[in-house]
Amino acid sequence: MENTVIDLRKIFISMDTSHFKETFSSEEKCLEILASAKWQNGFVCHKCGGTKYGHGKTQYARRCTSCKKEESVTAHTIFHHCRIPLPLAFEIAYLVCGTPGIAASNLSQMLDTRHMTCLNFKKRILECVASHGNLAKAI
Ligand SMILES: [Zn+2]
Repeated sequence: MENTVIDLRKIFISMDTSHFKETFSSEEKCLEILASAKWQNGFVCHKCGGTKYGHGKTQYARRCTSCKKEESVTAHTIFHHCRIPLPLAFEIAYLVCGTPGIAASNLSQMLDTRHMTCLNFKKRILECVASHGNLAKAI
């Protein structure tokens, strides 16, 4: 089954830094934007292909009405099992999209975040772009 295409780069490109920080300022706002981008063409269950859904247990998650499989907002995106707060993860993605060659040490300094964290997440973003030609397409 085709994964949902989410091109966050299109969202990022239209924003300057202050607009970005305002928009992605909390975990909830990040989830809300990710959910609307992820399901912009409607919900399709990854397990059975069903398109009808109800609310899931976690915020903005959707639960397939046919097979009852719940899908979180971050599932099948680069933000899945992300151990850092979403606003920080989005900020790394924003900076890497703006400057793909940016050094992890610069990110680490700018965001006051561990070097390894920046390095690993940057790698994840670039791998995703390389294999899907798209920022947040499913892993
Ligand atoms: Zn299903």
